[in-house]
Amino acid sequence: MKMERRNFLKLFGASAGAATLGLAGCASTPGAAGAGKKVVVVGGGYGGTVAAKYLRMMDPSLEVTLIERNDHFISCPFSNLYLGGILPDLSSLTIKYGKLAANHGIKFVQAEVTGVDAANHTVSTSKGVFPYNRLIIAPGIDFRTDEIKGYDETAMPHAWKAGPQTLRLRQQLEAMKPGGNVLISIPLTPFRCPPGPYERASMIAMFLKQHKPGSKVIVLDANPDIVSKKGLFLKGWKKHYEGIIEYRPAKRVTEMNAKGMAVLVEGLEEVKGAVINLIPPQKAGAIAHAAGLVGPDKRWCPVNPTTFESTVQKDIHVIGDACIAGAMPKSGYSANSQAKACAMNVVALLVGREVTDLSAINTCYSFLSAKEAVSVTGVYKANKDKGTIEAVAGTVAVSPDLSEVEALYAQSWIKNILVEMSS
Ligand SMILES: Cc1cc2nc3c(=O)[nH]c(=O)nc-3n(C[C@H](O)[C@H](O)[C@H](O)COP(=O)(O)OP(=O)(O)OC[C@H]3O[C@@H](n4cnc5c(N)ncnc54)[C@H](O)[C@@H]3O)c2cc1C
Repeated sequence: MKMERRNFLKLFGASAGAATLGLAGCASTPGAAGAGKKVVVVGGGYGGTVAAKYLRMMDPSLEVTLIERNDHFISCPFSNLYLGGILPDLSSLTIKYGKLAANHGIKFVQAEVTGVDAANHTVSTSKGVFPYNRLIIAPGIDFRTDEIKGYDETAMPHAWKAGPQTLRLRQQLEAMKPGGNVLISIPLTPFRCPPGPYERASMIAMFLKQHKPGSKVIVLDANPDIVSKKGLFLKGWKKHYEGIIEYRPAKRVTEMNAKGMAVLVEGLEEVKGAVINLIPPQKAGAIAHAAGLVGPDKRWCPVNPTTFESTVQKDIHVIGDACIAGAMPKSGYSANSQAKACAMNVVALLVGREVTDLSAINTCYSFLSAKEAVSVTGVYKANKDKGTIEAVAGTVAVSPDLSEVEALYAQSWIKNILVEMSS
């Protein structure tokens, strides 16, 4: 659905305004009502950092503990640019937690969360047990590796969580002999970042065009077609990577042969690659499963579309990739929007105030070349009758063309969002 930018800005203005009103309302009555109440946030990524920060901004009397297994976080957004050679390393995508914790009075605990006792309102970790009044879980994704026979992430890195896997895939690309093929295997939706695999194909093709003459990217997509920004990706591939990217729809990889550097489509058709980026099918982060938060699909966590409270376990909220957020894509921007709405309503629930209806936004940028990007944007609201989140009619739109201006917007977006998460 197309929408004029003017109309979108009007709507976005309305949504930003609503969020600001919510914040102002909370800030004017800084928190005595929440005094002594404890909120634990699990996961220091796109959702968790912002939820912890906004909880304390909205009610400074709350005790907020952020628990994350690592002492740093590496952003998946823009990690494809490292694979393409635009970024020299991952340092500009790496954040630490010290400033965020100090600036907002958040207690940061570096620990593995191992379990949740919903009945007793406690979280168990490698560093002890933490009680909560409300718990927010933002663990991101894990992989359904049991659906790929012979799965081995060392031989065929997914690089779908940024860090050592991303470095490994980049090393493999550098070491590859010119003329070899790179396979990218895309799982069925829903998965983290719908346009991400197609951006990755573009970035790897750019790298091959410059450094590995005669090499190709073969995209094996389990889906029947490109699932995001199709027209723009096809246009970009024609413009920059004709003969370098080969797109094959409806090719679900079910098996890998690490020694033979081959994958099997539906257990039958063998496809070989010099480098294979196998992105497995996905599910909510393991702790969401351990906490009994997943729904009947046994993969993702159903939530109330206004408060993000689990519909399975009381007083536990799930945000980001792990939750079922209706029409909102699984993106860092969505996780950020959900974190703010969730924090606002967790404060409201703790102090007995009325909750505020969801008004959220998402934009996903994708690079097609070193200088050109494209984007897709949408505004989202809760449909309480249906218990889901829907796109506001007429707001979901893609940018008109490949554009250097979109690339500048994207650069600015990543800088801003990482600063927001880390300070
Ligand atoms: C290649 C790629 C490109 C992308 N590009 C974009 C983009 O351009 N724009 C965009 O908006 N989105 C993009 N995304 C999607 C984005 O990365 C995710 O949607 C986002 O990270 C989801 O946020 P989250 O908070 O749910 O999970 P995460 O950001 O993954 O955070 C989860 C955190 O929880 C921690 N954790 C998990 N389990 C435990 C546990 N048991 N104990 C302690 N800690 C735990 C993890 O260590 C992690 O730090 C991209 C993704 C990929 C893979």
